[in-house]
Amino acid sequence: THFGYKTVNKDEKEKLVGGVFSSVASNYDVMNDAMSLGIHRLWKSHFINRLDAGMRPGSSRPLDFLDVAGGTGDIAFGLLDHAESRFNDISSTMTIADINADMLAEGKNRFQSTKWNDGSDRVNFLVQNGETMDQIEDNSKDVYTIAFGIRNFTNIQAGLDTAYRVLRPGGIFACLEFSQVDNPVIDYVYQAYSFSLLPLMGQLIANDRDSYQYLVESIRNFPKQEEFKGMIEKAGFYVPEKGYENLTFGVASIHIGVKL
Ligand code: SAM
Repeated sequence: THFGYKTVNKDEKEKLVGGVFSSVASNYDVMNDAMSLGIHRLWKSHFINRLDAGMRPGSSRPLDFLDVAGGTGDIAFGLLDHAESRFNDISSTMTIADINADMLAEGKNRFQSTKWNDGSDRVNFLVQNGETMDQIEDNSKDVYTIAFGIRNFTNIQAGLDTAYRVLRPGGIFACLEFSQVDNPVIDYVYQAYSFSLLPLMGQLIANDRDSYQYLVESIRNFPKQEEFKGMIEKAGFYVPEKGYENLTFGVASIHIGVKL
């Protein structure tokens, strides 16, 4: 397009994704804030509140959470905070999985200073590819979350199939991801911003133009809301009526699926 968009093939993609996240791990928050003008924080807290997950008083057992592409732990720690403050749930478990050891190391680092670092083994970290997750058993999780991660998968459908595999019947799949803007005027402005300003910001803030160029392209290549919803259904999930919620005109969206 006139914004200088170019494509990457699948093999290049896996290598690129590894490099991108190793390179951004340490200044990840700064970059996220800059890129989304701080809005990613609002999206994440909305995502967590909307899920409203936690062990309800009187229920028979704690929940097993799995946060995939969990990176720095934003979503995982947010979910644990929510479960405690809303439901007094201090026993559900959390597994944070990410393919990139550097991102996970950053998450572990942050974990040290959270209150969840209480000597219990409720929270654990796993280097895993979300497409396969060999170390996670079938039917073993209650809540599967993934935020801004799945668009980096080489095979997104395999990731969704795996989500279905690891969830127990009754388990919830919830995904927060960049999506497609539904209004043409806003989309024009957004495309102009992301294709010209974002790589420049990447260069200025992180001295890394290419990684941010890749991020922009990965957002552009990600399936539209309806198509992604179809992929979730194809994996076997029941998707409730509308199936997704657009945030900020569809710059991001939340998709939900239930394993029946
Ligand atoms: N969920 C965190 C958040 O919202 O702040 C991190 C999102 S970060 C943009 C994307 C993460 O996806 C990176 O940590 C990257 O290593 C991870 N990732 C990419 N491909 C993956 C895969 N195939 N399996 C698991 N994680 C993957």
